[in-house]
Amino acid sequence: MFTTTLLNWFALNGRDLPWRHTRDPYAIWLSEIILQQTRIQQGMDYWLRFMQRWPKVEDLAAATEDEVLRMWQGLGYYSRARNLHTAAQQIVAQGGFPTTLEGIKQLKGAGDYTAAAIGSIAFGLPAAVVDGNVYRVLARHYGIDTPINTTQGKKLFTELAQSLLPEDKPAEFNQAMMDFGAIQCTPTSPKCVVCPLQESCEALRTGRIGELPVKEKKLKILTVHLTYIYIRCGGKTAIRKRPAGGIWQGLWEPLLTDDPTPLSHAILLAKNVKHVLTHRILIADFYLLETDTPPTLPKEYIWVNEADLDRYAVPRLVEILLTSLPTSD
Ligand code: SF4
Repeated sequence: MFTTTLLNWFALNGRDLPWRHTRDPYAIWLSEIILQQTRIQQGMDYWLRFMQRWPKVEDLAAATEDEVLRMWQGLGYYSRARNLHTAAQQIVAQGGFPTTLEGIKQLKGAGDYTAAAIGSIAFGLPAAVVDGNVYRVLARHYGIDTPINTTQGKKLFTELAQSLLPEDKPAEFNQAMMDFGAIQCTPTSPKCVVCPLQESCEALRTGRIGELPVKEKKLKILTVHLTYIYIRCGGKTAIRKRPAGGIWQGLWEPLLTDDPTPLSHAILLAKNVKHVLTHRILIADFYLLETDTPPTLPKEYIWVNEADLDRYAVPRLVEILLTSLPTSD
């Protein structure tokens, strides 16, 4: 149902692009590399110029790197141009364009996507392409909220795309998916009102078009430095309960300070003790301050008997720091 509808849509709406009029793997490969990070209109101009100047892969391989870079100028991501040039020389050295997915993947700069695109379009290999368009169309149509930038997501969407691909029409199917994502099921404002898949579209039915596909946010790991002071004063020490909203909510800790003043009288017991949490790396210093006069502390700190300290739940890091404490006289 999905595949038939998509192919019917493609027959009526598919884009007429110059590299779609050829089965020449070199011409198709060139278009795929150029279009990787480039809009179609701009990419087309470059593709035409490349094809005019270097109509065969042998011509491109024989060019100097400077000439290729010069021709590429304005497209950005220059590693693509260098890879293209190296790959052209690889192709010539091995006597022609590789005709298997594995062979195509050996070309410099080619990955799964390029191999599937060239393999299917130039050689009719039944390999589904999976790119941003494919993720979006499938995630919405099938209502899949597995994040697309996870190993699990990549596997799931690749298998789904592969299961939908008709073995006798891999090129049409892949191009249809690309065009459908680019023209119909666009990132913002998809044209659901005139979509031939609207009746079976799960995202449309459940109102989740804006939420799909899901991308997992990469968590930024922060490094945080902590300085703790264990105050020893007449058999008592000061601790506080960690406030709500941060790490270790409700656990107890000694004086945490940004203020180095009390440290001039303090003894360093442990330095750069590393403790790794899911989103943070903590690096802690631990000081002992022995005094006869209790210092004035922020009001959340309470004084407790040192002997009773083990009644208070402390974070693992504090527990480790406390082991470096000398016993009181
Ligand atoms: Fe995409 Fe809308 Fe069609 Fe669903 S109905 S496949 S969201 S264009």
